Amino acid sequence: MQEMKTILAVGSIAIDTLQTPNGNRDNVLGGSATYFSLAAGMFAPVKLVGVVGKDYPKAGWQLFKSHNINIDNIQIMDGKTFRWGGRYSHDYSSRETLFTELGVFESFSPVIRSEDRCSPLVFLGNIQPDLQLEVAQLVTSVEYIVSDTMNLWIDLCPDKVKEVLAVSHIVLINHEEAIQFTGKKDIPEAACMLHSAGPEVVVIKMGAGGSYLSFNDRALYVPVFPVERIIDPTGAGDSFAGGFMGYLAQMGRPDFIEAVIAGSAVASFGVENFGPESLLNVTRKSLDGRISSIRSRMFAAEGV
Ligand code: AMP
Repeated sequence: MQEMKTILAVGSIAIDTLQTPNGNRDNVLGGSATYFSLAAGMFAPVKLVGVVGKDYPKAGWQLFKSHNINIDNIQIMDGKTFRWGGRYSHDYSSRETLFTELGVFESFSPVIRSEDRCSPLVFLGNIQPDLQLEVAQLVTSVEYIVSDTMNLWIDLCPDKVKEVLAVSHIVLINHEEAIQFTGKKDIPEAACMLHSAGPEVVVIKMGAGGSYLSFNDRALYVPVFPVERIIDPTGAGDSFAGGFMGYLAQMGRPDFIEAVIAGSAVASFGVENFGPESLLNVTRKSLDGRISSIRSRMFAAEGV
Protein backbone atom coordinates (compact mmCIF):
# COMPACT_ATOMS: atom_id res chain seq x y z
CA MET A 1 0.00 0.00 0.00
CA GLN A 2 1.17 3.51 -0.82
CA GLU A 3 2.09 5.79 2.07
CA MET A 4 -0.20 8.74 2.71
CA LYS A 5 1.39 12.06 1.78
CA THR A 6 1.29 15.33 3.67
CA ILE A 7 -0.04 18.48 2.04
CA LEU A 8 1.51 21.89 2.63
CA ALA A 9 -0.97 24.68 1.91
CA VAL A 10 -0.83 28.45 1.87
CA GLY A 11 -3.89 30.67 1.69
CA SER A 12 -5.90 33.25 3.53
CA ILE A 13 -7.12 32.76 7.08
CA ALA A 14 -10.01 35.14 7.44
CA ILE A 15 -12.98 36.37 9.36
CA ASP A 16 -15.90 36.71 6.96
CA THR A 17 -19.17 38.59 6.79
CA LEU A 18 -21.68 36.71 4.66
CA GLN A 19 -24.94 37.93 3.15
CA THR A 20 -26.97 35.29 1.34
CA PRO A 21 -30.60 34.91 0.21
CA ASN A 22 -30.92 32.46 3.12
CA GLY A 23 -29.64 34.81 5.81
CA ASN A 24 -26.62 36.76 6.99
CA ARG A 25 -23.72 35.88 9.27
CA ASP A 26 -20.98 38.04 10.83
CA ASN A 27 -17.56 36.97 12.11
CA VAL A 28 -17.55 33.57 10.43
CA LEU A 29 -14.23 31.71 10.29
CA GLY A 30 -13.16 31.66 6.65
CA GLY A 31 -10.40 32.17 4.15
CA SER A 32 -9.10 29.88 1.44
CA ALA A 33 -6.70 28.08 3.80
CA THR A 34 -9.43 27.37 6.34
CA TYR A 35 -11.83 25.77 3.88
CA PHE A 36 -9.01 23.94 2.12
CA SER A 37 -7.50 22.44 5.25
CA LEU A 38 -10.81 21.22 6.68
CA ALA A 39 -11.63 19.56 3.35
CA ALA A 40 -8.19 18.06 2.69
CA GLY A 41 -7.92 17.03 6.34
CA MET A 42 -10.73 14.51 5.76
CA PHE A 43 -8.21 12.51 3.73
CA ALA A 44 -4.63 13.35 4.72
CA PRO A 45 -2.45 15.43 7.07
CA VAL A 46 -2.31 19.15 6.27
CA LYS A 47 0.24 21.77 7.29
CA LEU A 48 -0.95 25.35 6.92
CA VAL A 49 1.17 28.37 6.04
CA GLY A 50 -0.47 31.71 6.74
CA VAL A 51 -0.92 34.70 8.98
CA VAL A 52 -3.45 35.93 11.51
CA GLY A 53 -3.66 38.95 13.77
CA LYS A 54 -3.66 38.93 17.55
CA ASP A 55 -7.48 39.23 17.34
CA TYR A 56 -7.83 35.78 15.75
CA PRO A 57 -10.51 34.01 17.80
CA LYS A 58 -9.89 30.97 20.00
CA ALA A 59 -12.59 29.15 18.05
CA GLY A 60 -10.34 29.26 14.97
CA TRP A 61 -7.40 27.66 16.77
CA GLN A 62 -9.74 25.07 18.24
CA LEU A 63 -11.10 24.26 14.80
CA PHE A 64 -7.60 23.58 13.45
CA LYS A 65 -6.60 21.63 16.54
CA SER A 66 -9.70 19.45 16.58
CA HIS A 67 -9.13 18.58 12.91
CA ASN A 68 -5.42 17.78 13.32
CA ILE A 69 -4.33 20.62 11.08
CA ASN A 70 -0.73 21.59 11.69
CA ILE A 71 -0.44 25.29 12.55
CA ASP A 72 3.33 25.54 13.17
CA ASN A 73 3.77 27.73 10.08
CA ILE A 74 1.00 30.20 10.88
CA GLN A 75 2.40 33.54 12.01
CA ILE A 76 0.60 35.63 14.60
CA MET A 77 1.30 39.29 13.91
CA ASP A 78 0.46 42.54 15.64
CA GLY A 79 -2.62 43.85 13.89
CA LYS A 80 -5.94 42.57 12.58
CA THR A 81 -6.77 39.28 10.91
CA PHE A 82 -7.77 39.54 7.24
CA ARG A 83 -11.48 40.31 6.88
CA TRP A 84 -13.70 39.85 3.88
CA GLY A 85 -17.39 40.51 3.28
CA GLY A 86 -19.46 39.14 0.42
CA ARG A 87 -23.08 39.33 -0.72
CA TYR A 88 -24.77 36.79 -3.01
CA SER A 89 -27.48 37.72 -5.51
CA HIS A 90 -31.06 36.44 -4.98
CA ASP A 91 -30.42 33.23 -6.99
CA TYR A 92 -26.73 32.84 -5.98
CA SER A 93 -25.72 33.39 -9.60
CA SER A 94 -23.28 36.15 -8.66
CA ARG A 95 -21.36 37.48 -5.67
CA GLU A 96 -20.25 40.96 -4.87
CA THR A 97 -17.35 41.75 -2.54
CA LEU A 98 -18.58 44.18 0.14
CA PHE A 99 -15.16 44.87 1.66
CA THR A 100 -11.65 43.50 1.91
CA GLU A 101 -9.55 44.50 4.91
CA LEU A 102 -6.06 43.13 4.46
CA GLY A 103 -4.91 43.71 8.05
CA VAL A 104 -1.80 41.63 8.78
CA PHE A 105 -1.77 40.38 5.19
CA GLU A 106 -0.31 43.72 4.15
CA SER A 107 3.06 42.91 5.67
CA PHE A 108 2.96 39.11 5.45
CA SER A 109 5.92 37.16 4.17
CA PRO A 110 5.51 33.37 4.39
CA VAL A 111 7.98 31.50 6.59
CA ILE A 112 8.15 27.70 6.49
CA ARG A 113 10.13 25.70 9.07
CA SER A 114 12.98 23.85 7.38
CA GLU A 115 11.53 20.45 8.38
CA ASP A 116 8.22 21.31 6.68
CA ARG A 117 9.64 22.51 3.37
CA CYS A 118 10.08 19.07 1.93
CA SER A 119 6.52 18.38 0.83
CA PRO A 120 5.35 16.34 -2.17
CA LEU A 121 2.00 18.14 -2.45
CA VAL A 122 1.78 21.92 -2.22
CA PHE A 123 -1.40 23.97 -2.52
CA LEU A 124 -1.06 27.63 -3.44
CA GLY A 125 -4.50 28.78 -2.34
CA ASN A 126 -6.04 32.06 -3.30
CA ILE A 127 -3.83 34.89 -2.00
CA GLN A 128 -1.72 37.59 -3.59
CA PRO A 129 0.31 35.82 -6.34
CA ASP A 130 3.65 37.18 -5.05
CA LEU A 131 3.01 35.30 -1.81
CA GLN A 132 2.12 32.15 -3.75
CA LEU A 133 5.43 32.48 -5.61
CA GLU A 134 7.36 32.98 -2.35
CA VAL A 135 5.95 29.68 -1.05
CA ALA A 136 6.71 27.91 -4.35
CA GLN A 137 10.33 29.03 -3.98
CA LEU A 138 10.62 27.82 -0.40
CA VAL A 139 9.46 24.24 -0.94
CA THR A 140 11.58 21.28 -2.00
CA SER A 141 10.92 17.72 -3.28
CA VAL A 142 7.60 18.73 -4.76
CA GLU A 143 5.66 16.33 -6.97
CA TYR A 144 2.67 18.58 -7.55
CA ILE A 145 2.17 22.27 -7.02
CA VAL A 146 -1.55 22.96 -7.31
CA SER A 147 -2.71 26.55 -7.64
CA ASP A 148 -5.91 28.54 -7.47
CA THR A 149 -6.55 32.25 -8.00
CA MET A 150 -9.40 34.75 -8.22
CA ASN A 151 -10.71 37.51 -10.49
CA LEU A 152 -9.10 40.23 -8.32
CA TRP A 153 -5.56 39.02 -9.08
CA ILE A 154 -6.29 38.44 -12.77
CA ASP A 155 -7.47 42.08 -12.88
CA LEU A 156 -4.67 43.55 -10.80
CA CYS A 157 -1.62 41.52 -11.78
CA PRO A 158 -2.19 39.10 -14.67
CA ASP A 159 1.56 38.73 -15.26
CA LYS A 160 2.06 37.52 -11.70
CA VAL A 161 -0.79 35.03 -12.16
CA LYS A 162 1.08 33.82 -15.27
CA GLU A 163 4.21 33.31 -13.17
CA VAL A 164 2.23 31.25 -10.67
CA LEU A 165 0.85 29.12 -13.50
CA ALA A 166 4.35 28.63 -14.86
CA VAL A 167 5.42 26.94 -11.60
CA SER A 168 2.18 24.96 -11.18
CA HIS A 169 1.67 21.36 -12.27
CA ILE A 170 -2.08 21.60 -11.75
CA VAL A 171 -4.42 24.58 -11.88
CA LEU A 172 -7.91 24.64 -10.42
CA ILE A 173 -9.85 27.64 -11.67
CA ASN A 174 -13.50 28.57 -12.09
CA HIS A 175 -14.89 29.16 -15.55
CA GLU A 176 -15.38 32.93 -15.19
CA GLU A 177 -11.75 33.30 -14.15
CA ALA A 178 -10.59 30.96 -16.92
CA ILE A 179 -12.44 33.10 -19.49
CA GLN A 180 -11.14 36.32 -17.91
CA PHE A 181 -7.54 35.07 -17.92
CA THR A 182 -7.47 33.50 -21.39
CA GLY A 183 -10.01 35.66 -23.23
CA LYS A 184 -11.55 32.38 -24.56
CA LYS A 185 -15.24 31.69 -23.95
CA ASP A 186 -14.94 28.14 -25.17
CA ILE A 187 -13.92 25.96 -22.20
CA PRO A 188 -11.73 23.47 -24.12
CA GLU A 189 -9.94 26.40 -25.80
CA ALA A 190 -9.46 28.14 -22.46
CA ALA A 191 -8.04 24.87 -21.06
CA CYS A 192 -5.58 24.66 -23.97
CA MET A 193 -4.33 28.16 -23.24
CA LEU A 194 -3.99 27.36 -19.55
CA HIS A 195 -1.92 24.27 -20.44
CA SER A 196 0.37 26.41 -22.55
CA ALA A 197 0.92 28.68 -19.52
CA GLY A 198 2.43 25.72 -17.61
CA PRO A 199 0.14 23.24 -15.83
CA GLU A 200 -0.11 19.74 -17.25
CA VAL A 201 -3.46 19.24 -15.51
CA VAL A 202 -6.23 21.84 -15.87
CA VAL A 203 -9.52 21.74 -13.96
CA ILE A 204 -12.10 24.36 -14.88
CA LYS A 205 -15.01 24.46 -12.40
CA MET A 206 -18.40 25.47 -13.76
CA GLY A 207 -20.55 25.67 -10.64
CA ALA A 208 -23.64 23.46 -10.94
CA GLY A 209 -22.41 22.54 -14.45
CA GLY A 210 -19.63 20.36 -13.02
CA SER A 211 -15.94 20.46 -13.89
CA TYR A 212 -13.92 20.14 -17.06
CA LEU A 213 -10.75 18.12 -16.54
CA SER A 214 -7.97 18.12 -19.11
CA PHE A 215 -4.69 16.21 -18.91
CA ASN A 216 -2.49 14.03 -21.14
CA ASP A 217 -4.53 14.91 -24.25
CA ARG A 218 -7.67 13.65 -22.50
CA ALA A 219 -10.62 15.81 -21.56
CA LEU A 220 -13.82 15.00 -19.74
CA TYR A 221 -16.64 16.54 -17.75
CA VAL A 222 -17.29 15.48 -14.17
CA PRO A 223 -20.79 16.27 -12.84
CA VAL A 224 -21.58 17.72 -9.44
CA PHE A 225 -23.55 16.06 -6.66
CA PRO A 226 -26.87 17.94 -6.84
CA VAL A 227 -27.39 19.69 -3.51
CA GLU A 228 -31.06 20.19 -2.58
CA ARG A 229 -30.66 23.54 -0.85
CA ILE A 230 -27.63 25.77 -1.16
CA ILE A 231 -27.11 28.01 1.86
CA ASP A 232 -23.63 29.48 1.44
CA PRO A 233 -21.30 28.74 -1.50
CA THR A 234 -18.37 30.62 0.08
CA GLY A 235 -15.24 28.50 -0.03
CA ALA A 236 -16.70 25.92 -2.41
CA GLY A 237 -13.62 26.25 -4.64
CA ASP A 238 -11.27 25.74 -1.71
CA SER A 239 -13.26 22.77 -0.43
CA PHE A 240 -13.08 21.31 -3.93
CA ALA A 241 -9.31 21.84 -3.93
CA GLY A 242 -9.10 20.18 -0.51
CA GLY A 243 -11.01 17.10 -1.65
CA PHE A 244 -8.97 16.94 -4.87
CA MET A 245 -5.58 17.17 -3.18
CA GLY A 246 -6.65 15.14 -0.18
CA TYR A 247 -7.53 12.30 -2.53
CA LEU A 248 -4.14 12.51 -4.29
CA ALA A 249 -2.36 12.56 -0.93
CA GLN A 250 -4.33 9.64 0.49
CA MET A 251 -4.09 7.38 -2.55
CA GLY A 252 -0.49 8.31 -3.35
CA ARG A 253 -1.17 7.90 -7.10
CA PRO A 254 -2.18 10.51 -9.64
CA ASP A 255 -5.73 9.47 -10.55
CA PHE A 256 -6.99 12.91 -11.52
CA ILE A 257 -10.49 11.75 -12.48
CA GLU A 258 -11.10 10.24 -9.06
CA ALA A 259 -9.52 13.32 -7.45
CA VAL A 260 -11.99 15.62 -9.25
CA ILE A 261 -14.87 13.36 -8.18
CA ALA A 262 -13.65 13.58 -4.56
CA GLY A 263 -13.31 17.37 -4.86
CA SER A 264 -16.86 17.70 -6.19
CA ALA A 265 -18.24 15.49 -3.43
CA VAL A 266 -16.51 17.45 -0.67
CA ALA A 267 -17.57 20.81 -2.16
CA SER A 268 -21.19 19.64 -2.20
CA PHE A 269 -21.13 19.36 1.61
CA GLY A 270 -19.47 22.73 2.02
CA VAL A 271 -22.32 24.73 0.46
CA GLU A 272 -25.02 23.26 2.70
CA ASN A 273 -24.47 25.62 5.62
CA PHE A 274 -22.79 28.93 6.52
CA GLY A 275 -19.02 29.09 6.59
CA PRO A 276 -17.08 25.88 7.07
CA GLU A 277 -19.71 24.40 9.42
CA SER A 278 -21.06 21.74 7.09
CA LEU A 279 -17.55 20.41 6.40
CA LEU A 280 -17.12 19.58 10.05
CA ASN A 281 -19.46 16.63 10.42
CA VAL A 282 -18.96 14.82 7.14
CA THR A 283 -18.75 11.09 7.75
CA ARG A 284 -16.75 8.69 5.60
CA LYS A 285 -19.99 6.92 4.75
CA SER A 286 -21.80 10.04 3.52
CA LEU A 287 -18.70 11.14 1.58
CA ASP A 288 -18.39 7.74 -0.09
CA GLY A 289 -22.11 7.89 -0.93
CA ARG A 290 -21.69 11.18 -2.79
CA ILE A 291 -18.50 9.98 -4.50
CA SER A 292 -20.33 6.88 -5.80
CA SER A 293 -23.30 8.96 -6.89
CA ILE A 294 -21.11 11.34 -8.93
CA ARG A 295 -19.16 8.43 -10.40
CA SER A 296 -22.28 6.59 -11.51
CA ARG A 297 -23.85 9.69 -13.07
CA MET A 298 -20.62 10.43 -14.87
CA PHE A 299 -20.40 6.99 -16.43
CA ALA A 300 -24.13 7.04 -17.23
CA ALA A 301 -23.63 10.34 -19.08
CA GLU A 302 -20.68 8.84 -20.97
CA GLY A 303 -22.79 5.80 -21.85
CA VAL A 304 -20.29 3.42 -20.26
P1 AMP B 1 -14.30 31.33 -2.61
O1 AMP B 1 -15.77 31.30 -2.29
O2 AMP B 1 -13.77 30.00 -3.07
O3 AMP B 1 -13.94 32.46 -3.52
O4 AMP B 1 -13.52 31.61 -1.24
C1 AMP B 1 -14.02 32.54 -0.33
C2 AMP B 1 -12.99 32.80 0.76
O5 AMP B 1 -11.90 33.52 0.19
C3 AMP B 1 -13.55 33.65 1.87
O6 AMP B 1 -13.55 32.91 3.07
C4 AMP B 1 -12.65 34.87 1.94
O7 AMP B 1 -12.20 35.15 3.25
C5 AMP B 1 -11.48 34.53 1.05
N1 AMP B 1 -11.08 35.68 0.23
C6 AMP B 1 -11.87 36.59 -0.38
N2 AMP B 1 -11.14 37.52 -1.02
C7 AMP B 1 -9.84 37.20 -0.82
C8 AMP B 1 -8.58 37.75 -1.20
N3 AMP B 1 -8.50 38.87 -1.93
N4 AMP B 1 -7.45 37.12 -0.83
C9 AMP B 1 -7.51 36.00 -0.11
N5 AMP B 1 -8.65 35.42 0.33
C10 AMP B 1 -9.81 36.00 -0.02
